[in-house]
Order: sequence, then structure tokens, then C-alpha cells
Amino acid sequence: MTISLVTGGNRGIGLEVCRQLAARGHEVLLGARSPEKAARAAADAGATPVRLDVTSPGDIERVAAEVEHLDVLVNNAAITYDTWQRAVTADLGVVREAAETNLYGPWLLTQSLLPALRRSRHPRIVNVSSEAASLASLGGGTPAYTSSKVALNALTRMLAAELRADGVLVNAVCPGWVATDMGGPGGRPVADGAASVVWAATLPDDGPTGGFFRDGRPLPW
Ligand code: NDP
Repeated sequence: MTISLVTGGNRGIGLEVCRQLAARGHEVLLGARSPEKAARAAADAGATPVRLDVTSPGDIERVAAEVEHLDVLVNNAAITYDTWQRAVTADLGVVREAAETNLYGPWLLTQSLLPALRRSRHPRIVNVSSEAASLASLGGGTPAYTSSKVALNALTRMLAAELRADGVLVNAVCPGWVATDMGGPGGRPVADGAASVVWAATLPDDGPTGGFFRDGRPLPW
């Protein structure tokens, strides 16, 4: 049985990733910061609820103590798509808050779950990022969000390099513009965005590592 943990699994892309992985036969641990939301969403997705606020070192420590074996970690939870803000005037409190959830949370969670991932024969880590963080096309706007995702991309590269010898495939994925609470109306269906993530979560052993992808195709860093 393949065991997968998805953060921010109670709604949006995370919930649909849980559904799609469960449909493929994975045992899915659905992480959510509210126990009630976790329980409701897990019942919907055919998953097991896990209380996990990625900004809480205590939650991360508890989850790492409970999860002995893990095959797939999907760092999906994120906040603060700060549209219309500018780097020249950005509130650094907001920038720091975004980094807590979008960067330091996934970072500490990954460190803490590495022993469990190392027990897997096919370990995978997927960092859900955004094309907004592609340095090749970086313009103005969303400074808190973009800086946190640029750093998440850098973390992806470092982890991939350091874990290559252990057979852990680590990739960053953009789900595309998706119609969720964060994406707003007009984006593509949640199922399509989630499929972009699931592709990286279910790579074969000779699949890529240290890449940035949308729909299985490389994006420029
Ligand atoms: P949503 O805003 O719809 O959902 C965000 C999820 O993250 C919620 O489940 C939320 O839980 C959870 N979350 C937020 N903070 C925490 C925390 N501290 N601990 C645990 N969970 C938390 O976002 P999307 O589904 O649209 O986005 C999913 C991912 O896709 C994100 O990484 C996002 O950056 C990325 N992305 C999305 C795009 C889009 O167009 N939608 C485009 C590009 C990338 P709660 O209900 O408790 O708030």
C-alpha cells in the first residue's frame, strides 16, 4: 500500500489531490489545520484525517511521531495570494506570515518526515508551487506569495540534490490557474490542477527529480 500525506487537504486542489490519490489505491493521510474540516473532507475523499497546521512545530512533531512509513509527501497548503501589492511597499509582516506557511512549514515538515520517507522504496516529495515564481517571467505583483514560492522552488532544488542518492524524487509543480478559493472564478477545473500534482506524486523510479512542472511538462525556473 502506498501511503501519501497531503497538507491543506480539506479544500481546493489539496482535497482533489487526496481524492485522486485515493482513487489510485493510495492510503491517503489528509492534513488540515481544523480537526472538524479534516474529518469532513477525509470522509468525502476516502482518506484518513490528520490534524496538521503546517505552521505548528508541535503538530509537525506529533505527525512525524505517528507516521512511521511514508511514500509520498505533497506540500500543498499555502496562503496569501496578495494581488495588487507591490514589492516597493509590501508589508513585511504579511511577507513573513506567507513564508511561515508556504516555505518554513513545508521545510520543517519535510525534515521531520524524512525518516518515514526513507523507509519507502519509492519516496516522492511534491512542492506545490506556481508559475508566478518563475524567475524567467517574474514581474511585479503578489510579493509575499511570489517570494515564498521562489524560495520553495529553491528548497526543491536543494532537497532534490541532497536526496538524489537516497532515491527520493523531489519536484515543484504548478497546478495552473485553478478555480478555487485562492484562484477565484475563471480558472481551470480543480480536477485538472490536481492531476498536475498527482503526476509528480506518482512518478516512476526513473522519473525526474529537481524539476519544475505543469501538466508533466517542464517550466522555466
Ligand atoms: P485554497 O486557498 O483553495 O486552499 C488552501 C488550503 O491550504 C486550505 O485547505 C487551507 O486550509 C490550507 N492551509 C492554509 N494554511 C494552512 C496551514 N497553516 N496549515 C495547514 N493547512 C493550511 O488554495 P488552492 O487549493 O487554490 O491552492 C493549493 C496550492 O496550489 C497552493 O500551494 C497554491 O499556492 C497553489 N497554486 C494555486 C493556484 C490557483 O490558481 N488556485 C495557482 C498556482 C498555485 P483552511 O481551510 O484551514 O484555510
